This record gives sequence, C-alpha cells and structure tokens, in this order.
Amino acid sequence: MPAFRVLGVPVRVHAATLPVHLVLAWSFSSDGDDALRRLAFVGVTLLSVLAHELGHALVARRQGLAVGDVRVHALGGLARIERRLPPEWRPSLEVWNALAGPATNLALAALAFGVAVAVGRALPVDTPRAAWADPVAAFVATNLVLGAVNLVPAFPSDGGRVLRALLATRLSYLRSTQVALAVSVVVVGGLLALALDRGWGTLLGWLPLVVMLGFYAVHEWRGSKAFDALETFRAFVASHRARFPALDRLPKDPRGQPLPGPIDDPELTAAWHAFLSARG
Ligand SMILES: [Zn+2]
Repeated sequence: MPAFRVLGVPVRVHAATLPVHLVLAWSFSSDGDDALRRLAFVGVTLLSVLAHELGHALVARRQGLAVGDVRVHALGGLARIERRLPPEWRPSLEVWNALAGPATNLALAALAFGVAVAVGRALPVDTPRAAWADPVAAFVATNLVLGAVNLVPAFPSDGGRVLRALLATRLSYLRSTQVALAVSVVVVGGLLALALDRGWGTLLGWLPLVVMLGFYAVHEWRGSKAFDALETFRAFVASHRARFPALDRLPKDPRGQPLPGPIDDPELTAAWHAFLSARG
C-alpha cells in the first residue's frame, strides 16, 4: 500500500482504490465527459473520503488516543484509532470522535461553497448531473452527501456510534448497542421500502448497505459482549482489590488495567461468584 503523511497522520491507499474508482468514473459518467473531468471526479471523491477519515484521526489525537493510520480503500476509508476500554471508555470521547468525520465534510463543503461565492465562480447545481460534471460543485456535493449520510443515527454510519454513545450515558454499553442496532435495522428497512417503491433495480443498489449493516451488527454485537464482560471483570477487581491482594498478580494491559488471568484461590472464586450473582 502506498503511504504518505498528512498533518503527521500516516495515510495508506489500498492498491485497488484507484483502478476501482477509475472504472466507476468511466462506467457512470456520460460520453460527453472528457477524461480530465472524470479524473477530477475521482480525485474529488478520494479527497473527500480522506478528509473524513483525517477528521476522525485528528480529533482522536487531540483526545489523547493513539492513531495508527488512515486507510483509503475502494469502498471508503477507515481511521485506525486506539479504543479505550472500560473503565476508561467515555461516551463523550466516542461522540466527539464519531462526529469529527461528518463535521469535517460539512465544514469543507461550506468552505468550498463560500470561496466559490466570494470569487464569483458560478456553481452549476440546477441538476445533479450538472453539479457532478463541475469539479468544485462536485466537491461541495460529495462532502455534503458524505457529511449528511454519516449523521444518520444508524449503523453502519458514524451516526450509529453517536446514538450508541448517547444511549450509553443512561444504559449499559451492551443494551445501548442492542437499541442502536434495532434502530439501524428500522432505518435501513425504511430505506429499502422506499427503494422497493422505485422498483427492484433500485433495491439491488442498496444491497451493499444491507451487507454492511449485517457485518456491522455481528461485529458490534460481539464487541459489546466482550466489552460488557471486561467491564464486569474490572468492576470486580476494583471493588475487591483491598480484600484480595492476589488480584494484584493479574496480568495488565499496556494502560495498567487488569486482564483476566488464572489465580488459584478458592476464596477469590467464591467472591467472584457472589459478585456476579449480586449483579443479577
Ligand atoms: Zn466516519
């Protein structure tokens, strides 16, 4: 993967990204578009995706989270960011971090629109086709769409993470994930019903979204189960450390938080069972 740095963040672009986007640009634009225009559109799309992921990465860095890199691939992007685990996970960290991507897109759309208006450059927005044929209008439109779509409060969009984090201020992380996933199924189901109204062809176009939601649902479900188990375990260690010095022999993660490990102590085992049954 070719790599470079933007504002200190390593960026990697998957080898298939450019070929896939070129094929898409050549198959979806009309014969009237020249090569330069199609290339400009590919550039606009990839730049907008990169800006979105950099927004996540830069805010994460400000939050004190470790940032691995930003990856751009054929179907989108990914910012690899350290995930804080219980008891260090905070809904506010997640909310600001998730909002950073779409906010970057909306800010860029506003900035490009403002500059175009200030220098008196006309933006053809009469029809989507006209807008997409002009690189500046395409940049504004792409960033508006990326920003808006990622604010929809449903997985797999960033808005799903925002919704889950807001729910987690009141509910457990596992419950919050369940509710957010249920909302996501309703939202995506609604979109499919709208698509079906426009014919089976349109419905087929939404299929990748369904596949992504399915993938997300499994991933988030497993993740939140593990999160819940770790939270229970660490709450036990925190509340029983004084009584059971053996707990200090547990292995620790790089942040000094205890990890489950074998401690042969019947009294401790009895305390663990009592703790679990007290939690219900
Ligand atoms: Zn995002």
